[in-house]
Amino acid sequence: MTKPIHFYDYSKDELTKLLTDWGLPRHTSDQIFQWLYKKKAKSFEAMTDLSKTLRENLAQKASLSGLTLQTKQVSQDGTAKYLWQLPADEKGQTAVVESVLIPMARDEEGQAGRYTACLSTQAGCRMKCTFCATGVPKFGRNLSPAQIVGQMLGMEQDSGTEFNNVVVMGMGEPMDNYENTLKAMRTLHDPKGINLGRRRITVSTSGLIDHLVRFIKDDWPVSLAVSLHSADPEIRSKLMPINRSNPLDKLWKVMKSYSSKRRLPVTLEYILLKGVNDRPEDAKKLHSYCKDLLCKVNLIRYNPVPSLPFDAPSEETVKAFREDLKARGMKVFLRERKGVDIAAACGQLGYENKLEKSN
Ligand code: SAH
Ligand code: SF4
Repeated sequence: MTKPIHFYDYSKDELTKLLTDWGLPRHTSDQIFQWLYKKKAKSFEAMTDLSKTLRENLAQKASLSGLTLQTKQVSQDGTAKYLWQLPADEKGQTAVVESVLIPMARDEEGQAGRYTACLSTQAGCRMKCTFCATGVPKFGRNLSPAQIVGQMLGMEQDSGTEFNNVVVMGMGEPMDNYENTLKAMRTLHDPKGINLGRRRITVSTSGLIDHLVRFIKDDWPVSLAVSLHSADPEIRSKLMPINRSNPLDKLWKVMKSYSSKRRLPVTLEYILLKGVNDRPEDAKKLHSYCKDLLCKVNLIRYNPVPSLPFDAPSEETVKAFREDLKARGMKVFLRERKGVDIAAACGQLGYENKLEKSN
């Protein structure tokens, strides 16, 4: 069986080559590229300045992303969670992934009325952090570039909104699906297409050092966020098993190299977990870890995952932790809680699918 063709998998040059091989002139491939990424057409059918015969031919030979929208849930705060069905693989296995549309009251630049897309890169995750819902079920698969880009365009087509920001903070570890995620990021960044700037795309990683070395060398067109969660080696290893092979001192060096080369701060994500990493001594360790590193800290209230043995601290503890870091001169943001009622908040993705599977 030949591999299905999904247009969102192709860069502009690759698409031109594909369509030239199919006998189409260059200006037609330019038109199609515009339909894909500027006019954000839902289907070949919608590309109305192409002849009907051509549109029918294209629809027979290819699709855009290969994703099918299964369900959409909207939270009281306007956050929407999309569940996508992936096509069956060679073994006939199906899988689903989730992505989230987040309306921002105000973003970090103080702008109102903006939307952020939170995208997944894998169905499941092999990193198995002990606090995260995504790592609980058996690992599914890597998503293709088209499936990563398709989540964003699919949400735009469904909601009629346009995203100003993308965070790769959904299901999966982006560095563990390196090539496909990089390709998708280049598509989001391409000035001739979607044209999102480096500061508008944030990729979050658990901190795989060898991959991060490559990430810097390949110059991903994105900003970097690293899930730290503790600056204490023992605590971090308990929360994130990957810390054993990706220790904090090496992580520090690679982050330093990123921020020096790109002249951009690294965002350090820090989930506050009651009684685990929320004490004054934890703030002190975090502060000394950040010394000489261009970074900002993004504090995240833990979002409860039933069956996992963690709780969120009280609001009082959260605020005290933030104030402690601020008083030490650090740049600190406390992430707004979004979509908790529909399990669309950080770390909750994949949980309901796990329930469906275990039923
Ligand atoms: N795998 C990548 C990106 C996806 S997770 C990473 O780990 O960075 C995106 C963010 O959500 C990470 O900072 C992750 O640690 C956080 N997260 C995971 N489970 C969470 C939970 N239950 N509550 C709050 N944040 C969580
Ligand atoms: Fe994977 Fe990130 Fe969840 Fe860890 S926090 S299991 S790396 S998705």
